Amino acid sequence: MSDIVLHRTPTPTSAERRAEILANPVFGHYFVDHQLLADYSADGGWGPMRIEPMGTWQMHPAAAVLHYGQEIFEGLKAYRRADGSVWLFRPEANAARFARSAARLGMPAVPETDFVEGIRRLVELEHEWVPDPAGEQSLYIRPFMVASEPYLGVRPASGYTFCVIASPVGAYYDEPVTLWLTPNYTRAAPGGTGAAKCGGNYAASLDAATEAEQEGCGQVLWTDGAERKYIEECGTMNFMFVSRDGELVTPALTGTILAGITRDSLLTLAERHGLTPVERRVTVEELFDGVESGYVAEAFACGTAAVVTPIVGFKAPGGVHHVVADGKPGAKTKEMRAALVDIQYGRAEDPFGWTQRVC
Ligand SMILES: *Cc1c(COP(=O)(O)O)cnc(C)c1O
Repeated sequence: MSDIVLHRTPTPTSAERRAEILANPVFGHYFVDHQLLADYSADGGWGPMRIEPMGTWQMHPAAAVLHYGQEIFEGLKAYRRADGSVWLFRPEANAARFARSAARLGMPAVPETDFVEGIRRLVELEHEWVPDPAGEQSLYIRPFMVASEPYLGVRPASGYTFCVIASPVGAYYDEPVTLWLTPNYTRAAPGGTGAAKCGGNYAASLDAATEAEQEGCGQVLWTDGAERKYIEECGTMNFMFVSRDGELVTPALTGTILAGITRDSLLTLAERHGLTPVERRVTVEELFDGVESGYVAEAFACGTAAVVTPIVGFKAPGGVHHVVADGKPGAKTKEMRAALVDIQYGRAEDPFGWTQRVC
């Protein structure tokens, strides 16, 4: 894919308008002026990556993605530091996961170096859209791939489009949530697509999210699809709790859980904060009993978008309601979050080589 062709938009957003948007960005609503694109065909492999003006594309109504859902995506951010420079956080991990998702959905791999290079070029071109670091704003980057071959048949498509778009994200608010243990739905089954970042998983989760909302909860607590006994994830984030004994516990990656990069980063950071990282199976019973006994001292959800969301309670059918500790975000939860974002914004040393400068 190597050489990236640039077709500049003749109508870039004015500096005034961009300043207006960045003063109050609505996540996922405003986009930078360009998108990165590449097309794949079974005969020719990947064509050259190109940067085009942001806008609609044409798609045949028989395109496979529209019928059988062959789609995968990623999510990462570009961060502006106090000195004005712009950085990415572990983009190689997103590239590797994108390749794993592609394999699971029968899609071609985007070479990982091209994935990272394409993102770097788009962010460099659009660096003015990376908000200043006040309030922990950032530029959210959304790489994705769809099956574009027009063909109504159930088999891996022979044509694909890879695309990267980006949208500025505003200030972070610490909004604690209560999780709803849904009796009706599961997110992933053994042998299914739970470990792949694909749109279909999200489509299948929407009704459960509506149910959680009706129960006055901010997110769904997902259990395993086979026995509904083990905790897996919450909403679209990974689940963690801090035990009274100083452990940072998270469900082990058993093939039905998405391997979050935030999850991995926090497990790596745990020991620097006096916590022992533990990946194991956690039952609903253990979790709820632990909340009641005080063994579960803090709980939170983690993912790129919100970084860390404190979990202050759990609800389940039959009027069950467990409040974690004093019902407020925990101290270690805040400390771990701060440690990670300090590395992302260059306010703390990065001993792991996680950050890379774009410009
Ligand atoms: C993206 C995602 C996460 C979080 O992954 P990060 O790499 O930390 O952003 C967790 N669970 C699901 C289901 C996801 O799609």
